[in-house]
Amino acid sequence: MHIKMSAIKPSLLAAVTALIICAWQPAREIHAQESQQVNVYSYRQPHLIRPMFDAFTAESGIRVNAVFAKKGMLERLRNEGANSPADLVFTVDIGRLSDIQNAGLTQAVKSRKLNSAVPENLRDPKGHWFGLTARARIIVASKDRVAPGGIARYEDLAEPKWKGRVCTRSGKHAYNVALFASMMQRHGDAAAEKWLRGVKKNLARRPQGNDRAQAKAVAEGVCDVAVLNHYYLHKMMQDPKQRGWAEAVNVIFPNQNDRGTHMNISGMAMTRHAPNRANALRLMEFLAGERAQRMYAEVNGEYPVNSRIEPADAVRALGEFKRDTLALAEIAARRADASKMADRVGYNE
Ligand code: FE
Repeated sequence: MHIKMSAIKPSLLAAVTALIICAWQPAREIHAQESQQVNVYSYRQPHLIRPMFDAFTAESGIRVNAVFAKKGMLERLRNEGANSPADLVFTVDIGRLSDIQNAGLTQAVKSRKLNSAVPENLRDPKGHWFGLTARARIIVASKDRVAPGGIARYEDLAEPKWKGRVCTRSGKHAYNVALFASMMQRHGDAAAEKWLRGVKKNLARRPQGNDRAQAKAVAEGVCDVAVLNHYYLHKMMQDPKQRGWAEAVNVIFPNQNDRGTHMNISGMAMTRHAPNRANALRLMEFLAGERAQRMYAEVNGEYPVNSRIEPADAVRALGEFKRDTLALAEIAARRADASKMADRVGYNE
């Protein structure tokens, strides 16, 4: 059997080539050691973080070489080992940060500036990672079908009154795993598992889709309450096709009369073999500082970790709320257990 080259469409070839290149852009500009530069691997999208890198370069004269990707960072760092040009990694969710830490790919950073800008519960006690922005895991409820005050706590999601009325994404997704881990820390394992069984029983459908898909499902009447990260409301409002999903729901910051709303972070870590350590530290301190925190809050709709900075107007409009101050390091330590708990209750089945 012959396979003619002409049988392979040029457009397909181009697409495959583009995919391979996009998976990890060649680190064309990255040279391991040069005095006035710092090398970054980022899961954060360029438009979310580039503006702060540019501001840092303008202020310091230090160039930021960034490689952006959607996956494979841990494997890449591991494969590169001591030869890795990366000084810093940027990612979302405590899960991904602690995975990189647990793989031994980070180093401890001691900085008074960082420690005063980033609250203690949003950084690793030994300085292996630091939060840069904070996100609230909120409950949304149908404006049509749920009276204001109808639901107020994560614990309520397991109440029989919500049978067949709850939507969430996969119970194995990092956002939910962290929430479940926080329930284990707050209530103990047995009570947390009982709760999760209750939530599972109340699901309107098998967990599916991303966070925005849960708001969409409420808007379409599939369910009445859902769990998602707060910044998706802001993003849906900016998209004409999704605006209706955001407008169909009321926002509830859970647990305001007790521990507060569960928070997660996007954050940064210095790599174990960072070749440009001093520059990397300068960039970290810049990003936690007031100017960058203000810029970051404007572009991505998250909460600054630096409490001296107000969030963007659209986010502030969601209202003041009490944050759960449970240390993310404690949540990170229970992630594996929380993930197993989701399996035990058959959450995704
Ligand atoms: Fe997200």
